[in-house]
Amino acid sequence: MLQKIDHLGIAVKSLDESVPYYEKALGLKCEHREEVPSQKVRTAFFQCGEVHLELLEPTSPESPIAKFLEKNPNGGIHHIAFATDDISGQLKQASGAGIKLIHEQPFEGAANKLVAFLHPKSTFGVLTEFCAPKNQ
Ligand code: ZN
Repeated sequence: MLQKIDHLGIAVKSLDESVPYYEKALGLKCEHREEVPSQKVRTAFFQCGEVHLELLEPTSPESPIAKFLEKNPNGGIHHIAFATDDISGQLKQASGAGIKLIHEQPFEGAANKLVAFLHPKSTFGVLTEFCAPKNQ
C-alpha cells in the first residue's frame, strides 16, 4: 500500500548552483548529499514537513537526468516518489493494471532505499517512483 508522498525528484544542472536557492531563498536545510552510481547522479536532500526534495545532478551524459536536462534545459520536476512497505506488490499491482514498468525489480537508490520506476508513457507523463527502506 502507498503510505505517503516520500519525495519529489528535481533535475538540476548543478547542485552547487541550486542548493543555495533552497537554503538561502527558501530557508530549508540540506540534510545530506550522496552520489548514486546506479542512476549516474549526485543528490542533495531537503526536508519540508513530511516530504523531501531530492535534487539530482547528472554525473554522466548517459544519466537519465542528463537526458531530461537536454529536453528541459532549466531543469524542473523530474519524478514523484511514493513510500510503500511493499515495492514488489506495488509493481505487480501496476503491471497487472497494464502499466509499463521501467524496472521489474527494485534496486538500490539514494538515502538507503530500494526504488523502482513506472514508465511515464503509461502514467500520463508523471515519472513515478516507489521507494521503501532497504532493511524491509
Ligand atoms: Zn527519487
